[in-house]
Amino acid sequence: MTPAVCAAIERLRAEPGDGVCAYVYDLDALRAHARAMRACLPPGYEIYYAAKANAEAPILRTLAPWVDGFEAASGGELRWLQQQQPGRPLLFGGPGKLDSELALAVSLPDCTVHVESLGELDRLARIATQAGKRVRVFLRMNISVPGIRDTRLMMGGKPTPFGLDEDALAQAARCLGENPQLRLEGFHFHLMSHQRDVAMQLQLVRAYIAATLRWREQYGLDARVVNAGGGFGIDYADHARSFDWPAFCEGLRELDLPRAHGLRVRFEPGRFISVGCGYYAMQVLDIKRSHGEYFAVARGGTHHFRTPAAQGHDHPFQVIRGGDAPVLANQPVTLVGQLCTPKDVLARAQTVAALAVGDCLVFSLAGAYAWNISHQNFLMHPAPRMVFLESEHSPQFEPDRTEIAETAEC
Ligand SMILES: *Cc1c(COP(=O)(O)O)cnc(C)c1O
Repeated sequence: MTPAVCAAIERLRAEPGDGVCAYVYDLDALRAHARAMRACLPPGYEIYYAAKANAEAPILRTLAPWVDGFEAASGGELRWLQQQQPGRPLLFGGPGKLDSELALAVSLPDCTVHVESLGELDRLARIATQAGKRVRVFLRMNISVPGIRDTRLMMGGKPTPFGLDEDALAQAARCLGENPQLRLEGFHFHLMSHQRDVAMQLQLVRAYIAATLRWREQYGLDARVVNAGGGFGIDYADHARSFDWPAFCEGLRELDLPRAHGLRVRFEPGRFISVGCGYYAMQVLDIKRSHGEYFAVARGGTHHFRTPAAQGHDHPFQVIRGGDAPVLANQPVTLVGQLCTPKDVLARAQTVAALAVGDCLVFSLAGAYAWNISHQNFLMHPAPRMVFLESEHSPQFEPDRTEIAETAEC
């Protein structure tokens, strides 16, 4: 927890009311992280932020100077991104796109559509014709890459609703040939999330580039960009074992494949970019013993912060002690929220040095797939406070691309 976050939670606690229940975002930390990610990346590689991880306006604004654009996974996200970041390059992916959403994508000044099926390709061709527009297209491909281990969340390499099989390419190429309003720019791959293995990820990038070169040749396609997806993994239990981005970038530099083939390679991470800047803070309302085990009931719960339930893990946290003498010392306690369900657990049997009513539990790594994946209306509890911290001295300038490449430290 950064000092700024700690101070903000102390300020919240000092306010009169029913106790702390808030998301606190450290935008300076987010900026520093995005800048460092960018600084490592060799030339020829791009980063788009997958907005579904967390699309809060201040997050997008903070990231904007350090990313090449944003990725939307629905028409709603696409509209929001266009409103929040007008004119920035947008990517539009995801299954089940509506005609109205495709029409929106076609109407935007800089939107690339990731096509998920042959049916969608046909619909997009018709919609672009009706609008009298050209549209940039990537074909999302579901391929299996030999030797790659599955992670906990697989989107490809086996039957899924995502992307095209390789044997659909001949027909896709025919459709593209007959519809010059569709301009194929590249292929899109997003086979898995939670990938923490740098060597595997490099192997995937190599396989994507090889497949793209093969298909270019085989079908006479002019695809120049490989979108290698997101999915860079976080180890919630031990953050030091999360995906090693600098080592990955070093590997990319050695690969040097894109330059050799006149390609660009694009990544679209979500979790890895924003997870670290967010904290969910809940003040302890009650500490009780039930059948021999301790429970701390705190203000809020999984209806605000579903991540521990979604991941099925004990979420990392720290205690900010209040003024009261500890009720528990060096004892295991299960941290729960205010919901009337035994599933409202954020961490189970965690040994705490000291805990009292009025203390704050601060869950870190809560900046991605947290508030926005939660069942917020269940039980009609009020929403958490949203606090965005930004030091007044942070550089607000929007650096140009060369400066990004040259000045920031890795
Ligand atoms: C969700 C998603 C991402 C981002 O995944 P992370 O695991 O958050 O990096 C990128 N691309 C596509 C197509 C996605 O569906």
